[in-house]
Amino acid sequence: MKLILLGAPGAGKGTVAKLLTEIDGSVQISTGDILRGAVQAGSELGKKADAFMKAGDLVPDELIMGIMEERLQEPDCEKGFLLDGFPRTIPQAEQLKVLLERIGISLDMAVNIDVARDVILDRLTTRRTCENSKCQAIYNVKSNPPKVEGICDKCGSAVVQREDETEEAISNRLATYNEKTAPLIGYYDNEGLLITVDATSSDAVINAIKAKLG
Ligand code: ADP
Ligand code: ZN
Repeated sequence: MKLILLGAPGAGKGTVAKLLTEIDGSVQISTGDILRGAVQAGSELGKKADAFMKAGDLVPDELIMGIMEERLQEPDCEKGFLLDGFPRTIPQAEQLKVLLERIGISLDMAVNIDVARDVILDRLTTRRTCENSKCQAIYNVKSNPPKVEGICDKCGSAVVQREDETEEAISNRLATYNEKTAPLIGYYDNEGLLITVDATSSDAVINAIKAKLG
C-alpha cells in the first residue's frame, strides 16, 4: 500500500504506520524519525534541523524535499510505503505530487486520523520515546509503559521524553499543525484521495484502512 498518514501530533500516525508495516511489508517513512536520527548523528542535515525541531517549528521545505526525493526512490519502497509526518505543508504536497508523477508512483489514499484535542494533549505529555535512533519505539507512561521503567522493551536503550515534548513546544507544534498542516485535509479531499477516520484506537484506524483498500 502507498499511503499518506495525516493527523495532528499525537494522533497516532507513527503507531498506525508501524502496525500497517506488519500487514504487507510496506515501509514506514517518518520524516520526524529521519530528522531525529540525523540530529543524533550530528550530520549536516541534523545541524540544520536541530533548532527548528527543539522549538516545535517545521524544518524548511527544501530540506524535507531533498530527503524524501532520495528516500522514495530506494528499493524498499517498491513494496509500498506509509508516509508518517510528510507532507506537512501545501508546498510539500504539491512538490510530492510532481515527484511521484515523475517517478511513476501513484498513491492509494491519504488517511486523516482525527482525534479530539484533549486526547491529543494528554497523549503528548505522557508519550515517551526510545532514544536509540534506529529504534524510536513509542511508549506511554499511562497506557503503554515499558516493562522495565525507563528501558526500551525492544532494544534496551533509555526511554525518554522528547525535547520537543515540553508544554511550550507542544503548544507550538499544535498551532503549527493547525496553520500549516491542517489545510492538507482539503488538498487531498480535492485530489479524491482523502479518507477521514474518527478514532481513538489504532485498531479502529487499521480496520477502516483495510476496509477501504478492499
Ligand atoms: P509529531 O508528528 O509528533 O509532531 P514528528 O516526529 O513527525 O512529530 O516531527 C517532529 C519534528 O520534526 C517536527 O516538529 C518538525 O520540526 C520536524 N518535521 C518532521 N517532519 C517534517 C516535515 N514533513 N516538514 C517539516 N518539518 C518536519
Ligand atoms: Zn528501543
